[in-house]
Amino acid sequence: VTTFSGKTVALFGLGGSGLVTALALKEGGAHVIACDDNPAKMTEAEAKGIETGDLRSLDWSKVSALVLSPGVPLTHPEPHWSAKLAKEAGVEIIGDIELFCRERAKIAPNAPFVAITGTNGKSTTTALIAHILREAGRDVQMGGNIGTAILSLEPPADNRIHVIECSSFQIDLAPSLAPTIGVHLNLSPDHIDRHGTMENYAAIKERLVAKADLAVIGVDDPVSRMIADACEVRGVNVARVSVEPVAPKGVYADGEALMGVTEAGAAPVANLSGIGSLRGAHNAQNAAAAIAIALALNVSPEKIRSGLSTFPGLPHRMEEVGTIGSALFINDSKATNADSTEKALKSFNEILWILGGKAKEGGIEPLREYFPKIRKAYLIGAAADDFAKTLGNDVPFVLSGTLDKAVEQAAADAAAMNGPSVVLLSPACASYDQFSNYEVRGNHFRDLVRALPGLEAKGA
Ligand code: ADP
Repeated sequence: VTTFSGKTVALFGLGGSGLVTALALKEGGAHVIACDDNPAKMTEAEAKGIETGDLRSLDWSKVSALVLSPGVPLTHPEPHWSAKLAKEAGVEIIGDIELFCRERAKIAPNAPFVAITGTNGKSTTTALIAHILREAGRDVQMGGNIGTAILSLEPPADNRIHVIECSSFQIDLAPSLAPTIGVHLNLSPDHIDRHGTMENYAAIKERLVAKADLAVIGVDDPVSRMIADACEVRGVNVARVSVEPVAPKGVYADGEALMGVTEAGAAPVANLSGIGSLRGAHNAQNAAAAIAIALALNVSPEKIRSGLSTFPGLPHRMEEVGTIGSALFINDSKATNADSTEKALKSFNEILWILGGKAKEGGIEPLREYFPKIRKAYLIGAAADDFAKTLGNDVPFVLSGTLDKAVEQAAADAAAMNGPSVVLLSPACASYDQFSNYEVRGNHFRDLVRALPGLEAKGA
């Protein structure tokens, strides 16, 4: 990226995307001075030819920008010291998405750019629309918050579509973000602690859609509905996404049927029935958003349907691992709180539920209304005793302790059941007490399940 050619740029945060960004800036002719709290990251950057140093001793009057990694707290609760120094010196603070936007403006201002945000469903929607577009034969570059750093992707070009997942932090650091299609899925109070207030959080999300050529907005929660209304008032072209009929245009879910709405009226576009990777009302919202994007990019309904039906889904999010007879094994390890687990409990019946780990505040009390669907619970990790108390006499349970034991017990119980059952790992807990993260936990579950006799595996 050549925006800072010949200029000095300070960079803080040398995690995955930070190092990529430092290299891209350097290659574009900038003088980069990088820093990280972790000395190992500094050494790694130096080995790649990046100059490192203590940003506290910089002459900030000679610095053109501070580039921050999205993980570095900017506004709340404590501004990062590097941000403080930059602010005091009047130096702009930006992130890698901003660098991409400036590069795009220079080399291919009309290159299609889809940016996706929201509290939940970002990764699923990003992966789904990228899949549909690829299946339709388009040149797609997918990345951002979902994995590949944006500056590791192929550069923007007129017939190449960038599909980028953006966290609030990344939007906050991208003042010139003006995507071709801006997508805001939903807003729940989850991340307020990190952004100060709900107003601030909503304002950040609004920025992504407000300057888009087309704003695709989920309107099933009150704040997002306000964002859609505010955009429309300002003359932004808005497509609404909902589980209720929308107007004047957009896509809505009528059960599993997805309806496209234009001035000409509503017409069915696709149906999610039988698509295992897109179960549940939350995925209907994600699919409706993906359809709105695909229609705007002139993908035919036939191609949209075929893309939806071949979507493999994302690992650890209600992922189908396989079946033994009529028992279906589901890895929902990403569900680290009751809110996420609720989506899974809503989506299945006859559930053999594996849960536990490091509990979040409130535990599983909010899930009580789904207890009648649970045939048995298998409790693991630090939360086991507390969860046992909540389940009480309402749900049969065993204190399995480990995931290994839980899978063994649940598989045996599933085999003994008459009729279909679902062995569901949806822990409603963080994993730290027994695993280093939810991915390690989910991978271990998948390995255990795949090792069960008689398993017919699904997916890769
Ligand atoms: P994100 O990238 O925003 O964290 P993901 O697509 O990875 O979201 O999904 C994470 C979890 O969030 C899912 O396992 C599911 O429990 C929940 N979820 C997914 N999509 C939605 C949605 N549209 N609305 C509410 N919750 C959702």
